[in-house]
Amino acid sequence: MSIRLSRNKALEEADRRYIWHPFTQMKEWEENPPVIIEEGRGVFLKDIYGRWYLDGVASIWVNVHGHRRKEIDEAIKAQIDRISHSTLLGLGNVPSIELAERLVSIIPEGLSKVFYSDNGSTSVEVAIKMAFQYWQHKGEKGRNTFLCLNNAYHGDTIGAVSVGGIELFHETFRPLLFRTHRAPSPYCYRCELGLNRRDCDLACLERMEEILKRHHEEIAALIIEPMVQGAGGMIVFPAGYLKGVAELARKYGVLLIADEVAVGFGRTGRMFACEHEGVVPDFLCLSKGITGGYLPLAVTVTTEEVYSAFLGEFKELKTFFHGHSYTGNPLACAAAIASLELFEKDDLLASVKQKEELIRSWFVEIEGLEHVGDTRGMGLIGGVELVEDKETKKPYPYEEKMGYRVCERAREKGLLIRPLGNVIVIMPPLCITEIELTRMLQIIAEAIDEVT
Ligand SMILES: *Cc1c(COP(=O)(O)O)cnc(C)c1O
Repeated sequence: MSIRLSRNKALEEADRRYIWHPFTQMKEWEENPPVIIEEGRGVFLKDIYGRWYLDGVASIWVNVHGHRRKEIDEAIKAQIDRISHSTLLGLGNVPSIELAERLVSIIPEGLSKVFYSDNGSTSVEVAIKMAFQYWQHKGEKGRNTFLCLNNAYHGDTIGAVSVGGIELFHETFRPLLFRTHRAPSPYCYRCELGLNRRDCDLACLERMEEILKRHHEEIAALIIEPMVQGAGGMIVFPAGYLKGVAELARKYGVLLIADEVAVGFGRTGRMFACEHEGVVPDFLCLSKGITGGYLPLAVTVTTEEVYSAFLGEFKELKTFFHGHSYTGNPLACAAAIASLELFEKDDLLASVKQKEELIRSWFVEIEGLEHVGDTRGMGLIGGVELVEDKETKKPYPYEEKMGYRVCERAREKGLLIRPLGNVIVIMPPLCITEIELTRMLQIIAEAIDEVT
């Protein structure tokens, strides 16, 4: 065996021996040859054997400008030459200040206080705890629950799972979770109320209002993924739904948490998904795309109103007692600033709109396939829902692993994607060219056609 080949075999063996992969059945993992990535460039990833793949999941929805983007690489290297990390507990650091100022200038007006953490789940935990404590300070001590949606995904920590609504991921942990109220998901293809989008008049909002009418005095906040429920299956909201939710939150005096961890930073064609319907939440959670997909970083941004409720004398104990070791990491903040500059330099949002059109026209074609039940998308998010029977919308049984099988076939053709159950997910880096995107869509169509 060559030195290279024996190194590769040793890596594979060590991966099997030492690593427990997330959201992965490790028995299957151990039985199959793993793909181990060693290098990236643009929208492509190279494995240890030198095979290149198109990164069609944007490295789990985080990558924006491609891998090894010169400007971000250089911003991080320059920051390393100053300092890699110092804490925000009792100290400031330069990149975290500069980034906060920039963020406040581009997010919906009214959101002005930036609380840093380091991943999407923690950004949601922070919002949940802040919302709860806000009401404690306001003297409304009975507000100890939250309103969330079926099919919601807000991360994997216990608080975030409590406000989640995906049975498959969340049900096991039910005994550990805090109590919530759950409103229907605006999943029009499989409407929980059995209605049709053409004449439903957004009846799911009425259901939500019934919950609020009855329980608003015990609800601290309503939490939602604006415009698209991501991990729930790329469920795109019908027009007017998000605005309706925001109005209900205002009407019943509960805080609104917008979890834009997946949809923020241009993914839906606007910088932030709330902009589509002119919504200003009380909390905005951002992570995934914030550093262009380079380093872990998150923010929870809130209003002066919420912030000022925590002000008081030291002895009053109004302090927000929460913080993480790597809060406001300077390298991650430097990457985030460089990423924001690239949005302008590359006129990235305009290009996302064009590519959205490309996906849309491809959807028209792919809808003709025998086992494609629904296609949906917004910006550079797409979902193709596979069904066993198109007429009855009967899903493929879980154990058939249809989504995985399609993705495995795509991998053989040089495209890395990951399904959500029976939904094939389209989530490339925003910088993907139209030629690369066309190739990606072609491979998906072939893979679906061949496997289903
Ligand atoms: C991914 C995701 C999270 C969790 O982020 P992590 O960084 O994986 O903890 C939270 N909310 C939404 C909407 C997400 O897509």
